[in-house]
Amino acid sequence: AAFSSEEGMMVTDPDGVILRINPAFTRITGYSAEEAVGQKPSLLSSGRHTEAFYRELWETLVRDKCWHGEIWDKRKNGEIYPEWLNISAVLAENGDVTHYVASFSDITHYKEVQDTAHNLAFFDPLTDLPNRRLLLDRLRQTLPANARNGVYGALLFIDLDNFKTLNDTRGHDVGDMLLVEVAGWLLTCVRAEDTVARLGGDEFVVMLENLGDEAEHAATQAKIVGEKILVALSQPYMLRDYQYHSSSSIGISLFQGTTETVEELLKRADVAMYQAKNAGRNTLCFFDPAMQAVLEARATLEVELRQALSQRQFHLHYQMQVDSTHHIIGAEVLLRWIHPERGLISPIEFIPLAEETGLILPIGHWVLVTACEQIKRWESEPQTRELVLAVNVSPRQFHQPDFVEQVRAVLEQTGINPGNLKLELTESLVLDDVNDTITKMQALKDVGVRFSMDDFGTGYSSLAYLTLLPLDQVKIDQSFVRNITVKPTDAVIVQTIIGMAHNLGLNVIAEGVETEAQRNFLESNGCPTYQGYLFSRPVPLEEFEGLLKH
Ligand code: C2E
Ligand code: MG
Ligand code: MG
Repeated sequence: AAFSSEEGMMVTDPDGVILRINPAFTRITGYSAEEAVGQKPSLLSSGRHTEAFYRELWETLVRDKCWHGEIWDKRKNGEIYPEWLNISAVLAENGDVTHYVASFSDITHYKEVQDTAHNLAFFDPLTDLPNRRLLLDRLRQTLPANARNGVYGALLFIDLDNFKTLNDTRGHDVGDMLLVEVAGWLLTCVRAEDTVARLGGDEFVVMLENLGDEAEHAATQAKIVGEKILVALSQPYMLRDYQYHSSSSIGISLFQGTTETVEELLKRADVAMYQAKNAGRNTLCFFDPAMQAVLEARATLEVELRQALSQRQFHLHYQMQVDSTHHIIGAEVLLRWIHPERGLISPIEFIPLAEETGLILPIGHWVLVTACEQIKRWESEPQTRELVLAVNVSPRQFHQPDFVEQVRAVLEQTGINPGNLKLELTESLVLDDVNDTITKMQALKDVGVRFSMDDFGTGYSSLAYLTLLPLDQVKIDQSFVRNITVKPTDAVIVQTIIGMAHNLGLNVIAEGVETEAQRNFLESNGCPTYQGYLFSRPVPLEEFEGLLKH
């Protein structure tokens, strides 16, 4: 029964002379029973294995009475193929070998699948270049050798400029065509022993090896290759019927394999690439340790910022807003981070980072809740019932799809009069998506929340959108206020903003008022409310409540 299986089979005598085969044997090897019987299995030898290999096979077989493994054989037509082979000895009662039975299956197809899987795991299917994994593998192998020999290598991190625009406007297939072209050009710029890899997207990495043991010489070599690449990649491309001009930015990081990890090296080249981008594209930059220090400080700050909320390191300061009779009408709530070691950290330092990392979402929510809870407490006292708190809202926070719901929920939970809450938005926030902004502002306006346009005049203010927004107030930026008494153009800007606000029926407040002269100018030009050091710095709650009593 076994003999009619899918697997090729043969039976030999103890000396290996073939006695019998099955039909599958003939199908796989091409030899008929007449041709095979009487021969030895060496009939099938592919010549790919050494004498020693066969000797070991036999030794194992004699000792263990069985052998299995992968082996290359040759068909009658000369084709070499891989098979999985099982051989076992048939023993007589006295333990002597009477026969050997071998069964084998052709694993050509399986091998092919395995190769494809291997290729998929290590090569980029679009460009056939090594992928990130293979690059890291090679780097890992290279670094210790470099360290031993004191030889330099270099990583060039290459990013195409404006690739996203091409992809978005011409479609992904055109984008793919460019990537394939770029891969080809890159290969022409390096020696055979160098590695060109595609990390993904429009990011490529070239690894140069054996650049000698002098840093300066190595840097020069890397620069030469980098410049060659810049030139090659800025040639016009023919993408289907469309002529396209591209350029690239390259970051270079030298390595000697001594201290750096592979990931670190790649990151350095990446950092340098961003420097190149910032320097105006179509250019190359070497990794700069000072830049690295800045980035590391930022990374530390990010880790600490993540913990700040749960560790209760955030506090709110209140800076009064007054009318022309010095009467306190409310306050702007300003966030303070009291760091356990570094003390007070300015929001200018951490708000942009919080914005970038998304941490602004929980932080901003905390500010809003805390401010509303404070409003609630003040609402129970006749003297403080009317105080309005202004809360800064950052773009990422505002653009959350459920921002309106979040604010409504906080209003409900705290049960405050929504008119005592004023949200400060910036012009850039509005311009990100004017329609979305209007919809959200209107929804909140409908429940009674007020809006102020912060830092007014510093952005790309456009009267057209300003009239569309349901604003209550514009806040003249402190940079204009600072100079109104000394710089005539700033004085004119401030007068213009005030006039415009009046014409649009909006309130106007000036921030950063530090001197009586500034306040007088503002008042005589029709600005009736102020905020600034002249009245009070931002102070903790207890202090602010003390100021309320005066
Ligand atoms: P901003 O909203 O324009 O806040 C006004 C800034 O001007 C505050 O700086 C305030 O302390 C400062 N300032 C007030 N009066 C004067 C003055 O007379 N002279 C001078 N030179 N400066 C004055 P601060 O507190 O450092 O806040 C800086 C920025 O950080 C704020 O600018 C705001 O954009 C952001 N920020 C602060 N708290 C929050 C918050 O809770 N959420 C968000 N998203 N951003 C916040
Ligand atoms: Mg503000
Ligand atoms: Mg401001």
